[in-house]
Amino acid sequence: MKLQSYDELLHSKHRLSLMLFLFLNTATSLFYLYHNEENPPFLFTPPLLVIALLSVTILLWMLLRPGRKFPPLNIAAAITGLLWSWQIVFKYQLVFYYDSSFLIISLVSVFFISAIALGDHLLAFCLHIAPPTLAVLVLDRGENTLLLLFTIILPLTGFTLHHLMQQRRDRFTRRLVSQLYEEKQTYSDLSMLDPLTGLYNRRGLASRLKNILDNHAGSHFLLLLDIDHFKAYNDNYGHAMGDQALARVSVAIRDAVRSRDIVTRYGGEEFLVLLTNVNESIAMKLAERIRQYVQELSIPHLFNERVATHVTISAGFAPLHADDFDSALTNADRALYLAKNRGRNNILSHAAISQSDLSKTVDGP
Ligand code: GH3
Ligand code: MG
Ligand code: MG
Repeated sequence: MKLQSYDELLHSKHRLSLMLFLFLNTATSLFYLYHNEENPPFLFTPPLLVIALLSVTILLWMLLRPGRKFPPLNIAAAITGLLWSWQIVFKYQLVFYYDSSFLIISLVSVFFISAIALGDHLLAFCLHIAPPTLAVLVLDRGENTLLLLFTIILPLTGFTLHHLMQQRRDRFTRRLVSQLYEEKQTYSDLSMLDPLTGLYNRRGLASRLKNILDNHAGSHFLLLLDIDHFKAYNDNYGHAMGDQALARVSVAIRDAVRSRDIVTRYGGEEFLVLLTNVNESIAMKLAERIRQYVQELSIPHLFNERVATHVTISAGFAPLHADDFDSALTNADRALYLAKNRGRNNILSHAAISQSDLSKTVDGP
């Protein structure tokens, strides 16, 4: 079984502890049923029979139905503890005349089961040993008090300390695990974002695209945008200014479209916007709004030859048919290519490209 979380690990540990506990109870009760030298060959005391039957039944249920709910360990421990105390009282009436060590041996065997199976579960440990301990102390009537107290207090102190250490370790592990989950989430989010612009990168787009195509049947458009003559901008204003311009253009694009549209930095100075649930005319309006917002940034660009004295952007867009992203991208790219050819700072829909223009884009420049 593959464990998914720390809680599942603890649940599985709990289940194994209960199974071990039931197994030890079964084995011990069967041993006492058989090993009974003082009385007739077999002594079927009612508590022993109940312990054996109960333990075997629950154990088999857990083995045969591994996915089902199982009884809480604390309840199982409390019930068997009561049954063991009943067994001690019951048998004491038969043996106390000739076996003075019976009480100690009984107590030790209950502690033995608890120590092996319930070492990591202090409450269950106490619930299991409390009834037999009380029964033994009452039946002993002060004859072996020191020995009994030694038998009880020593393991109890050890287990309390063990439990406290385990709790500390548990808290530490929990903190560590949740920290790891948080960091994993943060890194996964960061790996989908472009550090310069804060927009999605290609990985982010792929993740959002899958989500959108799976959940939103509708008409979507791919819009491909490219800053005009940006190489000249970089060459003349410097790379740092180029970065600033890229960041400002990104904000303008983000502001121009709706929050549900996916804006991606697709390449160096290329952006891809996935316009969700739009028709051609809305796609055109949104693209035009981007073009205007970028122009209105008024980022000086005196080397934007024959286009403008500011940074401008060209765009091509195409519908996304039948989840075929690659074809839509190729079509949007063709439209962008022609938009650039037609003078830049403009937008072209793939549907508006004539056959002759289309053949030019296929043949290349
Ligand atoms: P066109 O109008 O045809 O698109 O011309 P262009 O100069 O924009 O096209 P080209 O692809 O030749 O140049 C793109 C430039 O974008 C090249 C590079 O200097 C610049 N660029 C790409 N990524 C970055 C970046 O992260 N920061 C900066 N400052 N510049 C970048
Ligand atoms: Mg480019
Ligand atoms: Mg460019």
